[in-house]
Amino acid sequence: MTRNHKIISEKSQEWLKENTKRFAFKKLEKEVVQTGACVECGSCVAGCPVEALTGEYIDGKYVPTLTGKCIACGTCYAMCPRSFILENEIIGSYISAWRVRSLGEHSRQDGGAVTAILGLMLDDDEIEAAIVVGQREDKPWMPTAKKVTTRDELLKTGGTIYTHAQVVGEMLNFFKENLSSVAVVGTACNIDAIHRMQTHPGSVFNVDPEMSAFKISLFCMESFGYEGLVDFLKKEGIDIRKVERFAIAGGNFMVTVGGDVKSWPVKELDYIAASSCSYCTDLTGMNSDISCGNIGSDEGWTTAIVRSDRAEKVLRKAIKEGILEGEELDDKAVQSVVNSARFKMNKRYKLTPSH
Ligand SMILES: Cc1cc2nc3c(=O)[nH]c(=O)nc-3n(C[C@H](O)[C@H](O)[C@H](O)COP(=O)(O)OP(=O)(O)OC[C@H]3O[C@@H](n4cnc5c(N)ncnc54)[C@H](O)[C@@H]3O)c2cc1C
Repeated sequence: MTRNHKIISEKSQEWLKENTKRFAFKKLEKEVVQTGACVECGSCVAGCPVEALTGEYIDGKYVPTLTGKCIACGTCYAMCPRSFILENEIIGSYISAWRVRSLGEHSRQDGGAVTAILGLMLDDDEIEAAIVVGQREDKPWMPTAKKVTTRDELLKTGGTIYTHAQVVGEMLNFFKENLSSVAVVGTACNIDAIHRMQTHPGSVFNVDPEMSAFKISLFCMESFGYEGLVDFLKKEGIDIRKVERFAIAGGNFMVTVGGDVKSWPVKELDYIAASSCSYCTDLTGMNSDISCGNIGSDEGWTTAIVRSDRAEKVLRKAIKEGILEGEELDDKAVQSVVNSARFKMNKRYKLTPSH
């Protein structure tokens, strides 16, 4: 059989041009080669259509090196097993993506969409309870997972607490009461725990198919240890008990005290991030029914990435009934979520020293 690899390679480049962002070798070098994540497979060197790369052995290690002129066709970055390029690998599969805002009066972090969606599901008896997170009475901003069954209780639970909460444990306590249908709010790591139970052949979810958990994931770059946060604030002259609001936006961590907002680059707080965050590469919570965050939308709005038919039905109903207002996200906004999610994925490599 005769084949023409040059033509095949050109077709592959055409696909990349039409379908993905194309990165030059420089980006691969910075993210994968220099961080030590490179697996030395040689795919970038041999796959480069203009033979601009050479595999050089440095101290016995194969190091892809730019020795010609890079045409930024994107092939090396796209084919590297350690890069993150395809949108569905970075933010997962989804049905639709929106910017939405609750039209109700209630506490909220961004657009209040999470609270509004839970309110609608409770009103419609789609769920018997929602598992959300509040502050412990004895320790302000220390999270406590809780079950809410009424709209009044729910409306007080909006807002973000930037510390791990045991929502999955609280969900299991709900099932122990012989109840069966719940919605749970959590970060990707919480949602993964539920997804594991829903898909594990030996799990209670598979013993009793009546058990149902609707998963709302919150975008999460990282969460912080409670004591670390208390100490960080103390050093900055802030008593955590006086904090009115925490927020992360535009790479900054913001704290509101007495109406004033103080901010620091989030990277200055990396040292108090929960140790488990070093292992996480999922910003949006790809295993959820719906993922909610602010990245991709303006202040005061929630970005909602809808992944299941059930979530699509709830969100569209909320818009139709005037509980939420909003519109589908344009490509640029989706791309900003993808870029932040890729940043989180790459962050894991940066934690590993190069060698
Ligand atoms: C640790 C953490 C880090 C985050 N980082 C980012 C980020 O980098 N970028 C970004 O765009 N968004 C981030 N978010 C999500 C963002 O803060 C909002 O939660 C999201 O935009 C939804 O806003 P909303 O107004 O629609 O939700 P709301 O209507 O305010 O409802 C928020 C819901 O989240 C629940 N909740 C609060 N804290 C927790 C918690 N620790 N664990 C589980 N559930 C909780 C509340 O009980 C409530 O039900 C983060 C959230 C958390 C918990």
